[in-house]
This record gives sequence, structure tokens and C-alpha cells, in this order.
Amino acid sequence: MERYDFGIIGSGPAGYTAALSAASIGKKVILFEKDLIGGVCLNKGCIPTKTMLHSAEIFYNAANSLELGICVDKSSLDFSTIIERKKSVVEKLRNGLERSFKNSGIITINSEAHIIDKNTIEADGIKYFCSQIIAAVGSKPKIIDGLEYDHKYILSSDDVLNFEKLPEKIVIIGSGAIGIEFSRILSAFNVDVTIVEIAENLLPNADIDISKRVERIFNTRGIKFFTKTSVKKVEKLKDKIKVFLSNNEIIESDCMLLAVGRTPNDIEKVDGVTYIGDAAGSIQLAHFASKQALNKIIQIPFDENLVPSIIYGSPEIAWIGKREQDIQTTYQKAMIPISALAKSHCDNALDGMIKILAKDNKIIGAHIISNEASSLIQQIVIAMQTNTTIEQLKAVCFGHPTYSEGIFDCLMRLK
Ligand SMILES: Cc1cc2nc3c(=O)[nH]c(=O)nc-3n(C[C@H](O)[C@H](O)[C@H](O)COP(=O)(O)OP(=O)(O)OC[C@H]3O[C@@H](n4cnc5c(N)ncnc54)[C@H](O)[C@@H]3O)c2cc1C
Repeated sequence: MERYDFGIIGSGPAGYTAALSAASIGKKVILFEKDLIGGVCLNKGCIPTKTMLHSAEIFYNAANSLELGICVDKSSLDFSTIIERKKSVVEKLRNGLERSFKNSGIITINSEAHIIDKNTIEADGIKYFCSQIIAAVGSKPKIIDGLEYDHKYILSSDDVLNFEKLPEKIVIIGSGAIGIEFSRILSAFNVDVTIVEIAENLLPNADIDISKRVERIFNTRGIKFFTKTSVKKVEKLKDKIKVFLSNNEIIESDCMLLAVGRTPNDIEKVDGVTYIGDAAGSIQLAHFASKQALNKIIQIPFDENLVPSIIYGSPEIAWIGKREQDIQTTYQKAMIPISALAKSHCDNALDGMIKILAKDNKIIGAHIISNEASSLIQQIVIAMQTNTTIEQLKAVCFGHPTYSEGIFDCLMRLK
């Protein structure tokens, strides 16, 4: 039987980070992937969505920038080029990853793997001995009883990423990160979007001020939504669907996207095997998956409470730490509208906010809607991870004009 130090199943961020970091410390690594190298993140998740989102935002901004002296015809969209670019970005990154595996001496097997025992993986009838097995098999879209995917009318995120032609109307069920990002992409391309969310507010996992601000932004962007509402049934017509909602609304639509979460993929559960990433079923984010891998293989510690949440589009949305509605003790708070910053006026990006929550001279939570929120939140994560005090942060010199100045303004206003 062939022998390896590490047998890794799955080549998403958890699997590829585990494989590359094990190889970097001289371990003999074999990696099994039954589908495309790069997992959901690279092929059906983070990367294709952000690539499409980039086109969507450029188009939306250009088509809505008369006051900036830019005049673009709203019908001048070439969706097939957008799709081709998405495919080529994904392919380029996948080729790069495959090259890295090769250069690192990682053996890749393109087959479905099974765990026989804590040291044995089987694929295509061949058994491999592995001193350690890491199962990083990822997740798939959750199925709701009565709303099974038919891939024509009832769609998963995979189906939407495979659109060759845009629908006129779509109903999106769920307003987590995936629902919000697709509503931004599709509405920017002039698709009529209605979100249906069962919770009281959009983005139910966010701080309440973020949820309310996103609702306001969606109202101004013409993205319709119903909160505290669920789907009662869906009727399929000749080439449309009728979606019956619990609030008695009936929406006729071309299709419906279910963005209601993801379920870990199936793989044998065996004592002594390490399960990481989406398959482990806790936080389902690519950066969490890769941090877990680094922690398992080269023991870089990380704080599972300090994993930033980021939702892309303009403006970006990001948060870390405690939400205000969950804090039970006394705390300090400061919140500024993003329009308080000169940079937001230069960019004509006035809708947003920065809120910082603090206790005992340390930040305990931050909630941001702003251009560059994905980078701004990282400044707060570093401050929290390193236990930096508010006084030390106030001594930092922030550039001008920047969105980071908003962090400084909040620190100065903490009461
Ligand atoms: C539309 C969308 C957008 C997203 N955007 C973001 C984002 O912006 N930021 C972010 O952090 N996260 C995002 N995510 C989540 C992110 O994609 C996942 O958290 C991440 O991919 C999890 O990585 P993983 O390695 O655990 O699993 P995956 O990426 O799911 O990889 C698992 C791999 O294992 C393979 N596999 C499964 N079983 C077997 C087997 N038996 N044998 C061999 N191979 C097997 C699968 O084929 C798959 O390739 C997004 C997800 C979606 C769906």
C-alpha cells in the first residue's frame, strides 16, 4: 500500500491550505478531489460571485453617474462577456493552484475518496495508507421540503452562477451573505429582485443598525423585500412560477433562488480523522476554513471568535465581535455616518456607517457599511486580536482622505 504523511480529502480552502502547508514542512501529501480543484470557494462561491459582482457594480455605477459627468446607456450590457470573464478568472486561479500542488510535490487524485479507517483512504478501488487523514469535503446548498431544486425554476447559487441569460424577475429566499450578494449582482444588471426573509430584518445575523441601513439602501436601489415572511407554496406555470407568501402576497417570477444556508457534504465519520472547513459544520467561510487548516497542520493558533463577516458589493458590509442587541452589560458606543468622511464625498459613496462598541478601554465589536469595509474591518480585527487599547489606537496616525479616518472618528467619540 502506498504510504503518505497526510491524506487530504477535498481541495477547497480547507483542503488546499492543509495540503500546501503540510508540503511546506516537508510532509508527503496526497490529495483527493472528486470535482474541480479549488472547491466551492474557487469554482462556485467566493471567486465567481465576486468576479460577477465587480462587473455588476461597475455597470450600476456607470449607469447611475450622470451627476459625475458619466453617461452610459442602461441597456448596454454584454452578459456573455461577463460570464466569459468569470470563467476565465476561475480557470486562471485554478490553474495556479494546480501548479502550486505540482511544485510542492503534492500528489492529486481526481476521484471520490472514502475513509476506511483512521489511516486508510480508498479511491477507485486503491487503498492509501496515511498517517493522518484530513476530511475537508465542504458543503452543498440546503434543501427545503416542498421546494426541491429543479434547476430551472427553483435554483441554487450554483444554478445562478451558470446563468447564460439573465431572467427578468427573480425571488430570492434568504437574506444572508449569499442572498444579499446575489440580490446586489442581479439588481445591478436590472433584474427585478424580491427578497423573502423569515426573520424580522434583512441580514438577521448582523447588528441591528447594519440590517436597518441595508434595508434603507435596498429601498433606494429598488430591491424589494419582505421580512417576517416565508414561502407557502410555489406553482409552476408554463414558463414562470407563482410564489405564494405567508403574508398573502403572490409573486409571479421567472425563477426563485434558495439562499437558505448550506449542509455539510457526506463522508464517513471515523474517530482519529480530522474534519475541517464547511464539512465541520460551524462557521462556513473560506477564511475560517483555511485558518482551521493552518491551525491543524502547522499549529498557528487563531481565535474563533474573531472571524470577520464580510458581504461584498457597494457599499461593502463587514463586522466583527459583539452585536449591540446582544450586549447585556454597560458598554461604550460611537457611530458615524460614512457621509461624515471627505472621502465618501469624493467617491459619491455617501450611504453607510461605522459603529464601534467598546468596554474596559478595548473594542468589543465593530459594524461597518462603507466602501472598503472588507479592509477596514481587518484593522479592527488586528486591534482586537492584539488586545490593543482604545488609547493606543487613538495614537495611530490615519491617512487623509480615507475611510479609515472613520475608525479614528469613532474612537474619539466613544462614550
Ligand atoms: C455563492 C457563494 C459565495 C460565497 N462567498 C464567500 C465569500 O465571499 N467569502 C467566504 O469566506 N466564503 C464564501 N463562501 C463560502 C465558501 O465558499 C466556503 O466556506 C468554502 O468553500 C469552504 O471551504 P472547504 O474547503 O471547507 O469546502 P469546499 O470549498 O466546499 O471544498 C470541498 C471539496 O471537497 C470535495 N469533496 C467532497 N467530498 C469528496 C470526496 N468524498 N472525495 C473527494 N473530494 C470530495 C468537493 O468536490 C469540494 O471540491 C461562499 C459560498 C457560496 C456558495
